Amino acid sequence: MPVLNHVESPRRASDAIHDEVLPAGCGWMRDLKKGQFFRILDLEGNQAVDTLFYDAADPSDRYSAVDTIRAQGNIFLTAGTRLLSGEGKALLTIVADTCGRHDTLGGACSAESNSVRYALEKKSMHNCRDSFLLALSRRNGWSKRDLTGNINFFMNVPVTPDGKLAFADGVSAPGKYVELRAERDVVALISNCPQLNNPCNAYHPTPVRLLIWDSA
Ligand SMILES: [Zn+2]
Repeated sequence: MPVLNHVESPRRASDAIHDEVLPAGCGWMRDLKKGQFFRILDLEGNQAVDTLFYDAADPSDRYSAVDTIRAQGNIFLTAGTRLLSGEGKALLTIVADTCGRHDTLGGACSAESNSVRYALEKKSMHNCRDSFLLALSRRNGWSKRDLTGNINFFMNVPVTPDGKLAFADGVSAPGKYVELRAERDVVALISNCPQLNNPCNAYHPTPVRLLIWDSA
């Protein structure tokens, strides 16, 4: 395992304008203003936080894993990564990261992937795609066509020498966090993964803490 990035934030939780705990299995959708800072904190370690971002002024322009990877020449997201939209706009920049590596290749779990990866009777189990859709459905004009390839914060999905994706042991731990600065007004959509069949979270999904600060 290479040495992982470790960049701490100067912001204190007591100065945050928003601070909440999102239980495992819950969806979350919220606007972030340009200049605001947004932290996702892994309370118990190795939780997967499936996340998407949209340009608030034009939600059809949204986070693009392909453009983000190509621009930085690296498949992992960490401090310094600019999250780009499909039209090449910088939506947010990762400004702090004490975990060091986040996946954006593995996608979100769904009823379909649960039944293909694990067993047919797992199809009805709670999954990220359903949490995304439930959160989206509370806003007018949003639908399943707004879902695209997402970020899996705190998930470790290395690529093997022969090009395979390895869902490896997590590199996160209790208290590790990632923090982003909004480069324009954006909408954030999260599914705090409820997955009970994947060893990446030790079969035990856990809550995360979400904090927002106004621009410095
Ligand atoms: Zn999931």
